[in-house]
Amino acid sequence: MMEKRRVVVIGGGFGGMRVVQGLRHAKHVEVTLIDKENHHLFQPLLYQVATAGLGSGSIAVPIRSVFREQKNARVFFGEVETVDFAHRLVKLKDGGQAEYDDLVIAVGAENNYFGNDHWAKHSFGLKSIRDAIGIRERILLAFEEAERYEDPARRRELLSFVVVGGGPTGVEMAGAISELGHMVLAGDYRRVQPEEIRVVLVEMADHVLTPFSLELRLAAERQLRELKVELRLGSKVNDVREDCVVLEDEVVPASVVVWAAGVKPVTFLRGLDLELTRWGHIVVDSSCRVRGHEHVYAIGDCACFVDEKSGEPLPGVAPVAIQQGKHVAKILGRQTDTHTPDKPFRYRDKGIMATVGRSRAVLEKGAIRMKGYLAWLAWGFVHILYLIGFRNRFIVFFNWSYSYWTFKRGVRLVTGLAARRRLRRIDQKAGPRIPTRPSKLEELQPTGSE
Ligand SMILES: Cc1cc2nc3c(=O)[nH]c(=O)nc-3n(C[C@H](O)[C@H](O)[C@H](O)COP(=O)(O)OP(=O)(O)OC[C@H]3O[C@@H](n4cnc5c(N)ncnc54)[C@H](O)[C@@H]3O)c2cc1C
Repeated sequence: MMEKRRVVVIGGGFGGMRVVQGLRHAKHVEVTLIDKENHHLFQPLLYQVATAGLGSGSIAVPIRSVFREQKNARVFFGEVETVDFAHRLVKLKDGGQAEYDDLVIAVGAENNYFGNDHWAKHSFGLKSIRDAIGIRERILLAFEEAERYEDPARRRELLSFVVVGGGPTGVEMAGAISELGHMVLAGDYRRVQPEEIRVVLVEMADHVLTPFSLELRLAAERQLRELKVELRLGSKVNDVREDCVVLEDEVVPASVVVWAAGVKPVTFLRGLDLELTRWGHIVVDSSCRVRGHEHVYAIGDCACFVDEKSGEPLPGVAPVAIQQGKHVAKILGRQTDTHTPDKPFRYRDKGIMATVGRSRAVLEKGAIRMKGYLAWLAWGFVHILYLIGFRNRFIVFFNWSYSYWTFKRGVRLVTGLAARRRLRRIDQKAGPRIPTRPSKLEELQPTGSE
């Protein structure tokens, strides 16, 4: 009997999942998927968890359950520490290891603070369920605290939120926080007044949504202002402190700071014996094969694939990772005795879109440009379509319909230990002063089940 080829995939994100799924009929292959989380995460909807629109279970699915029926696939829950390319061995932090004949690296990206990693202490990135729940709890706590104070100046300080980065994630986050505050939460509190809620979006470029046409960038800015988001365009962040964000010409108070200014490939790649770009992306050839390693592939956010047509690297978006995952699965799924050369990977651009609040969006694909409600419907359709699992699609559709018609958000739970400690510290008599924030570690104490 022919020996099965051992394929190891590191990372169960958009790219890695598609590789394993694409190999489901490959009888000559045995796949091991390794991820440091036990779930696949639909990152584009993280902002909805952060703003109480969806529960985390709606956008995450246990990886193991996805491959329950796929008998040639197994899943390891563990963090990869290094790869020994000479001996074709993947080594995990917990001491475990996995041998491979072919390896696919699909480890994605992490937050990029552009050399100011200490800013992470006073801000939240948006890359994981932990981040999203941390943001949600801090926003809800800010309202709870504000309700205790008679002094409107103090309430205004507490209800001041800053989002850094005007890309799709920052725009979505700022719009959603403002909507949550003005349309959902304000009505539930007696002291908090809608005009006391302040959401500031900081962007270094002159407009938000840089990859979009100017017409749509301006439309998005208009839509944000309609949602009462204050824009600081052409503004560089000089510092992120415990209670404020320092811009070149302004200090903006902030009880919660969301860092959405950019991502970079995960740092662990720097320790591997691979050719990387200066930003840390793995250099790959036209088949997504890693330069200098015949049996190693890299896909998605961690790879630098230069598009033949434009001569530019492909962007870090889900469709790139998905299509590359399918492409690599096709290569690995071929019987080993076929010697036809690999087809080069060709990216089919699906266009770009960003949503601004509960019923507005902008969408661009070639010459097609849409804004407002129709663009939002298209955005919703595409996001539901790409969610993994029928259950999640149904729950997300149901939740969106419910909050669209009722203006209610169901997932407004605060369960973290840090949150309880913080409430105990409230000093109702104190004048304006942003309270000392707990450290990020304390902030992210286990949050229970939501
Ligand atoms: C908030 C947010 C919103 C976004 N919105 C959009 C959008 O609207 N549209 C769009 O197209 N794209 C969007 N993106 C980008 C999109 O999510 C990424 O391009 C896509 O996830 C890349 O897929 P990937 O497979 O390369 O990496 P990921 O999906 O990030 O998966 C990487 C996986 O690797 C695992 N991993 C990392 N390091 C290790 C290790 N050492 N050991 C084991 N496992 C490891 C991680 O746990 C993760 O599961 C968004 C991203 C974010 C963060």
